[in-house]
Amino acid sequence: MPGVADIFRSCGPEYRDRYGDAMPPSHRRTMQDVTDCRTERMGGHLFRCSHCDHLRYSYHSCKNRSCPVCHESDRKAWLDKRRREQLPVPYYHAVFTIPRELHEIIRSHQRIFYALLMEAAALSLMKLASDPRYVGGKIGMLSVLHTWTRALVYHPHVHCLIPAGGLSHDKRYWIEARKNYLVPVRALSDIFRATFIALARRKLPAAVFPESIWKTPWVVYCKSCHHAADKTLAYLARYIHQTAITNSRILAEERGKIIFRYKNSRERRWQTMSLEASEFIRRFLQHVLPRGFHKVRYYGLLSPRNRSLLDLIRRELTNKTEPGEDESLNSDSKAEIPKPLFLCPLCHKGRLIQIISLPRRWRAPP
Ligand SMILES: [Zn+2]
Ligand SMILES: [Zn+2]
Repeated sequence: MPGVADIFRSCGPEYRDRYGDAMPPSHRRTMQDVTDCRTERMGGHLFRCSHCDHLRYSYHSCKNRSCPVCHESDRKAWLDKRRREQLPVPYYHAVFTIPRELHEIIRSHQRIFYALLMEAAALSLMKLASDPRYVGGKIGMLSVLHTWTRALVYHPHVHCLIPAGGLSHDKRYWIEARKNYLVPVRALSDIFRATFIALARRKLPAAVFPESIWKTPWVVYCKSCHHAADKTLAYLARYIHQTAITNSRILAEERGKIIFRYKNSRERRWQTMSLEASEFIRRFLQHVLPRGFHKVRYYGLLSPRNRSLLDLIRRELTNKTEPGEDESLNSDSKAEIPKPLFLCPLCHKGRLIQIISLPRRWRAPP
């Protein structure tokens, strides 16, 4: 089965000839990195087994965050770290979506609008939660920007994971949120829309927004994920360290068409889709984020500047809940037994010893 790199290799040149002038440098860089990832062009090392003399080439990975084969270990490390940081309270999961009418303008000013979308979502949640009718304190959240649907369609939205509670305004108490209700979703949607437009007008005073965006309610979802917080976190981790499509979902490349599977979220079943290679590449590349853009952000109580405060809250809350919760976390991290390093995959007896360092080949600038 072909992977994205194979598709770039076979159909990329034609795509570049056709759209090269209009392609942003980030797209060209991604195409080249993904194509070169773990090939001799990246350079690497040559190993020899100390027992059977088996030779093994190991090439460097590209580390481009849009590469479908890099980042598996990053995902695990990220998830472990977030699990250790989790508060011993239930969590809420919120999703903020932008209406379709705004997709074009967002697409042409991605860096500004993606940041703005994340900020507007966080500000509206924090504003509503600070109202004593709801939480009445300062909440925090982990936010992740998503831009795609499973069929690779452009769909910018933000997922937020929010501990169910907040710090009182005098910073003396932890206030538990209600069990099945964090904030009213309808009001949240209205505040989110107003905040987004206000921030957008400030950033891009000349931009014109269609009137219809005030008429349609913006889709906001906020549900408790009591015992599924860990599941949601694992889902977000997968998304953060994955690209718009994983190689395992690509079924075939036939006569200029790419066939892949995707899960139809409405019907909740797997389907296949066939796209012209150029359309497939266009859909893939539209999810390459602006260089250096942080798609994971922490707001309010969870923002990095509140780290020591958060440690204190976690300790307090852990002491109030069942003892031993901390130990289970520790034993979990201890459970990971490292695999023996450099064991020869052929004879399983010798160790692979590096004999040569292979230089990276010259690559034309993208
Ligand atoms: Zn790679
Ligand atoms: Zn060997």
